[in-house]
Amino acid sequence: MELWFTENHTESVRFSIKIKEHLVSEQSEFQKIDILESEELGRILVLDGFVMLTEKDEYIYHEMITHVPMSVNPEIKRVLVIGGGDGGAVRELCRFKGVEHIDLVEIDRRVVELCREYLPFTAGSLGDERVHIHYEDGLKFVRRRENEYDLIIVDSTDPFGPGEGLFTKEFYGNCCKALNERGILVNQHESTFYDEYAHAMKRAHERIKSFFPIALVYQAHIPTYPSGQWLFGFASKKLHPVNDQNAEWWVAQGLRTRYYNRFVHSGCFALPNNVRDVLAGRI
Ligand code: SAM
Repeated sequence: MELWFTENHTESVRFSIKIKEHLVSEQSEFQKIDILESEELGRILVLDGFVMLTEKDEYIYHEMITHVPMSVNPEIKRVLVIGGGDGGAVRELCRFKGVEHIDLVEIDRRVVELCREYLPFTAGSLGDERVHIHYEDGLKFVRRRENEYDLIIVDSTDPFGPGEGLFTKEFYGNCCKALNERGILVNQHESTFYDEYAHAMKRAHERIKSFFPIALVYQAHIPTYPSGQWLFGFASKKLHPVNDQNAEWWVAQGLRTRYYNRFVHSGCFALPNNVRDVLAGRI
């Protein structure tokens, strides 16, 4: 008998993956957590029925949400990661020797514990001495911070359920306050392909723009996310992601990556019209 996992990208579009074994199925205080062993995409983390990452393509998302900001400010030392309990963003940040302190604020302790046990390929750096894990709501955590971070990465679930608060004006305003003068905010910014995601993305972008003088969007091709065209937000008080790119510095770090490189860095901010039109409110 064949076993398939199906994710509803919309009410009328589904995405199915053939499964070898259902490793974990648990209802935590915050969400349903499933971890699957698939035939072709390796292990998969699913939260409330949505694919968070697969072993086969998680590197794309985690390289793009970290190496882009890291290449703009080589002086980044203190980082706040909100969400990201799978450890993939933290893994990439720990590869940079200059990073001295990472606060990881993950609302669901069970995500961290289960990823440590079943997804060592993303969670392997959560034990790094620079990493400090806080099991609480990122919306509340950031209220207490001021002028403290060089970089904030919002590696959240989608804007409903526990992640809803991480797309609000209050949250982005508090992130702005928690960053120092050269601070950078990067967030998981959904997609424009399906209407529901497009509305969430446009709303979030407008809210970010109301706090940050520089607020741009960049894209990556992530096959297992709805439509495969996934967006990230880059916001900053002073640093422009393309004009201030330190490509030579990043190359000198000698980090082997499988998606990000110095040319993808500038190219990913060149957006197609189907994204530009949504951002400009033309559709
Ligand atoms: N890194 C993965 C990816 O490739 O997209 C997905 C992100 S990670 C699994 C999303 C995390 O955000 C989840 O572990 C979820 O528990 C956490 N989360 C959701 N709402 C949160 C909140 N308000 N505060 C802190 N963490 C939250």
